Amino acid sequence: MRITEVAPGVHAVESDAVNWTLVEDGEALTLIDAGYPGDHDNVIASIRQIGHQPSDLQAVLITHAHVDHIGSLPQLLAEHPVPVLTSEREAAHVRREHLEQATPLDVTKNLWRPGAVRWSMKLMRLGAMKDVSVPSATAFEPPLDLPGRPVPVDTAGHTTGHTAYLLPDARVLVTGDALVNGHPLLRRTGPQRLPGFFDHDPANVERAHDAIAAVDADVIVPGHGPVYRGSPAEAVAELRSA
Ligand SMILES: [Zn+2]
Repeated sequence: MRITEVAPGVHAVESDAVNWTLVEDGEALTLIDAGYPGDHDNVIASIRQIGHQPSDLQAVLITHAHVDHIGSLPQLLAEHPVPVLTSEREAAHVRREHLEQATPLDVTKNLWRPGAVRWSMKLMRLGAMKDVSVPSATAFEPPLDLPGRPVPVDTAGHTTGHTAYLLPDARVLVTGDALVNGHPLLRRTGPQRLPGFFDHDPANVERAHDAIAAVDADVIVPGHGPVYRGSPAEAVAELRSA
């Protein structure tokens, strides 16, 4: 696990297979995304490593409801109940009123990719096959009065309610899987598309990239891959020329 303070009070956490973000405001914390089920101890450790307690959490914001972004929440919320917020459409997905996720068969069909077998073994250990749902998830109502004053950015495409979050004072954009900067199934680091089978609503993916490119920020914390330093417009231009 690597923790980088990408702007004052904004900590990007890169775990084995996925990232999450902690945003401080004095004693209070916002967590954006929450890793795999097997990341629970790392989520707690990351909170302590930046000098906080889990009880400092005010809320958890979710980019999208895939198991690698909400997996630790059932255990975390059992110990520290806080609001779990995302877009209205995605909140239903977090509650598992529907499921938009690559099936084990989709993944199996992609095992020819370099590194895919090792990757899927790691995911098994992280609890990727668990059925995770968060029944308490609800829709946010902007403006969000939370540490970092996060501004939701509609980036539907990867899932039909996918949401990125701009931290305007810190000039950091948390993109989830609407823009990744690397992935174990991709050969190189850099802004790029995920393998298409991960995207639930591919027709909207281009529109999501347009929405990201329009955001004024200096740093991107992606759902996967290292922190990107540069403007969202530059990142999307790189992605489109990749
Ligand atoms: Zn992901």
